[in-house]
Amino acid sequence: MTVSARVSNEFQIPKSMKAWVLGGPEELSMVEKPVPEPGPAEVLVRIDAVAICATDLEVISHGMPAMIEGELPFNKGFTPGHEYMGTVVKLGPTVDEFQLGDRIAVEIHAGCGRCPRCREGMYTSCLNYGFHSRGHRANGFSTDGGFAEYAVNHVNTMVHVPNEMSDEEATLIVTAGTAMYGLDVLGGVIAGEGVVVIGPGPIGLMGVGVAKALGAQPVILTGTRDRRLEMGKRLGADFVVNVNQEDAVAAVRRITGGKGVQYVLECSGAPNALNEAARMVNRGGRICLAAFPHEAVSVDLAYIVRNNIYVFGIRGEGKSATHRAAALMTQRKFDAKLIHTHTFGLSDLPEALRYARDRVEDAIKVVVKTGSA
Ligand SMILES: [Zn+2]
Ligand SMILES: [Zn+2]
Repeated sequence: MTVSARVSNEFQIPKSMKAWVLGGPEELSMVEKPVPEPGPAEVLVRIDAVAICATDLEVISHGMPAMIEGELPFNKGFTPGHEYMGTVVKLGPTVDEFQLGDRIAVEIHAGCGRCPRCREGMYTSCLNYGFHSRGHRANGFSTDGGFAEYAVNHVNTMVHVPNEMSDEEATLIVTAGTAMYGLDVLGGVIAGEGVVVIGPGPIGLMGVGVAKALGAQPVILTGTRDRRLEMGKRLGADFVVNVNQEDAVAAVRRITGGKGVQYVLECSGAPNALNEAARMVNRGGRICLAAFPHEAVSVDLAYIVRNNIYVFGIRGEGKSATHRAAALMTQRKFDAKLIHTHTFGLSDLPEALRYARDRVEDAIKVVVKTGSA
């Protein structure tokens, strides 16, 4: 088939689409925007569903970590939203990795492909982050994202979604991918290691499912909300600890017979979380920070140094973690859709954001369906 034959297709693609754009902080409005055109190695995705992430709320309120040509993303016609899935409806020149009609989920960071970090495969740490003019693309952060009817994606940011998986569940692949990135390639978790996940938010809960699927033992989840801890059990946690009832460090020591665990995935952002995590791991243990407090915090560095503890932060879902998360979800290794709690239409985005921000009805993952399917 020639490229031109493949590009002419059965999907009716309008010239313009509905898209939410960010004005000033907290100012979202729905506008008509031109449907973007995929370039070489890119496709046009009809967005079928997009999940709301805490980082979207951050971007809409404060701008960062979104960045358009090195500046805050306000009043630039920028469309946020990054945890989406959809259908491939148009192929850019040279694309043969995907076919028209393929259902796909996305990872966020395409990287620039030209900086040393991207060449190392560390594209979530791209040195050209925020500069589309230098080839960088991270939809919903430095290029237009998923609170719209269509988006352009580089082929390196997409993963196939099996037919049996619902749109809503497929939006969670990228969330599970973030947990996966923290645990496997970057964290080096191997079967039989003990893992504590602090904080049963979406990434923490997916972290439980991924850690269990990777063979971690035991998997311990700590938090304050019993309903979420119960959900953690259903996702594979061997033990849950309500820190309002028992000191988290003491509980981990009790469960592990005083030994502690090899690994902590910190997803709470609580000010004392790093100090607690350091006392949950044993000597030489590793701590991955997937959340952070807004203020500077005091850390007992001497304890970390004396005990040879490794601490690192993660950004996003690098090293193709989204593909590995999709593989585990396709194999039904854990039931990601448990964390999907609410669904809204695209025009109800402000209400959907409110549910996510205020945790209305104990919302965990709020999904917006575009309804164009
Ligand atoms: Zn996110
Ligand atoms: Zn780069």
